[in-house]
Amino acid sequence: MLFGIPRTIYSEEHEIFRNSVAHFLENEVLPLYEEWEEAGRTPREIWLRAGEVGLLGTSTAEKYGGMGGDFLFDSIVLEELGRFGVSAPSFDMHAYIIAPILNNFCTEKQKKEWLPKMVSGEWISAIGLTEPGGGSDMKEIKTNAKVDGDYYVINGSKTFITNGHIADYVLLATKTDPSLGAKGVSMFWVDMSLSGVSRGKNLKKIGNKAQDTAELFFDDVRVPISNMVGDLNKGWSLLIDGLAQERLVVALRSIAMAEVAVDQTIKYTKQRKTFGQTVFDFQNTQFKLAEMSANVEAGRPFIDRCIELHVEGGVTPELAAKAKLWATELADSVLDECLQLHGGYGYMWEFPIARAWADARVHRIYAGTNEVMKYIIAKKM
Ligand SMILES: Cc1cc2nc3c(=O)[nH]c(=O)nc-3n(C[C@H](O)[C@H](O)[C@H](O)COP(=O)(O)OP(=O)(O)OC[C@H]3O[C@@H](n4cnc5c(N)ncnc54)[C@H](O)[C@@H]3O)c2cc1C
Repeated sequence: MLFGIPRTIYSEEHEIFRNSVAHFLENEVLPLYEEWEEAGRTPREIWLRAGEVGLLGTSTAEKYGGMGGDFLFDSIVLEELGRFGVSAPSFDMHAYIIAPILNNFCTEKQKKEWLPKMVSGEWISAIGLTEPGGGSDMKEIKTNAKVDGDYYVINGSKTFITNGHIADYVLLATKTDPSLGAKGVSMFWVDMSLSGVSRGKNLKKIGNKAQDTAELFFDDVRVPISNMVGDLNKGWSLLIDGLAQERLVVALRSIAMAEVAVDQTIKYTKQRKTFGQTVFDFQNTQFKLAEMSANVEAGRPFIDRCIELHVEGGVTPELAAKAKLWATELADSVLDECLQLHGGYGYMWEFPIARAWADARVHRIYAGTNEVMKYIIAKKM
């Protein structure tokens, strides 16, 4: 076994679920993946299929159509996505970042109306926080919402929005009271078919190519008051809670990608020959792989403990920031070394290591940059 410490957080039931996720990804996602990369987006049918096989509602309560599990089930889907090198469809954004926010902050009426469609894949969702003027300083959100009778009228724009082109709804951060700074933020569940909503071009990226990423524009968009998520001017606390989970999501995906990259690189270097021996036979290769293997193995219990703590409700924003910072930096360096050990083939898109290297690079940037993670951690010192 490459990684020797047995994992203790999953039961047999979890492992059976893991096999079904792996089966779905291998048979229904991987064969079409290149086609989606060419198109720069994923088709609705795969979202509906994911809904059918239960991938989109692992921790949503059964009464809203979900599986009623906990974050351990979520983490299995996220790990398998990482292991198979699948960054699209962006199930992580839809089912493991946005749905939990709706679960935690919506009213009963909203949950009854919205969650079943999220779980079935009938609705695809996006989250709109980042604006062209800046993403790190969320206090500076300029998109505004002004009350007008039973509606809020929204004006502004967002950028880099994952699922932005294919989404039916966006969970949108707005300023409802600019004089209050961060305390004047409110969140809305915005129907993307409303008059005044438009989408910019599908942005071309260096990785995650099957994921669509868009600019969104809101021009006098009238959103019913009943679509506010959480309380007026309380969007910031909702985001602090939601972003902690998002950071954990990125962390555990990163470590799964690092583990699989080490494994793939051992296999590749053992069969690639140069100077009359395999690449693995060079001491440099063995030392690099030994170092990477030790680093990844040392990190696994930390991430597993974070997953457990999150299930118990014990992950603080600082701990989630530490997990994201540490796991994404580790994965970035591991993927880069693994690519190097593949030589020129490592740079070829058809090799999993090339995709993984390009896909994981954004992990240090989104869900809050790693510099912002350091800021969050240091603020608590
Ligand atoms: C592929 C992709 C998908 C994305 N998906 C989404 C999405 O679905 N929804 C969404 O809302 N956003 C999304 N984002 C946006 C992402 O969250 C932002 O890019 C990120 O938060 C950084 O914001 P910025 O790009 O404006 O960088 P800036 O805020 O301009 O930062 C530029 C640099 O300055 C550094 N910096 C900023 N503040 C500080 C500080 N206080 N101290 C030290 N250094 C600092 C940053 O770390 C960074 O290195 C996505 C981005 C990408 C690339």
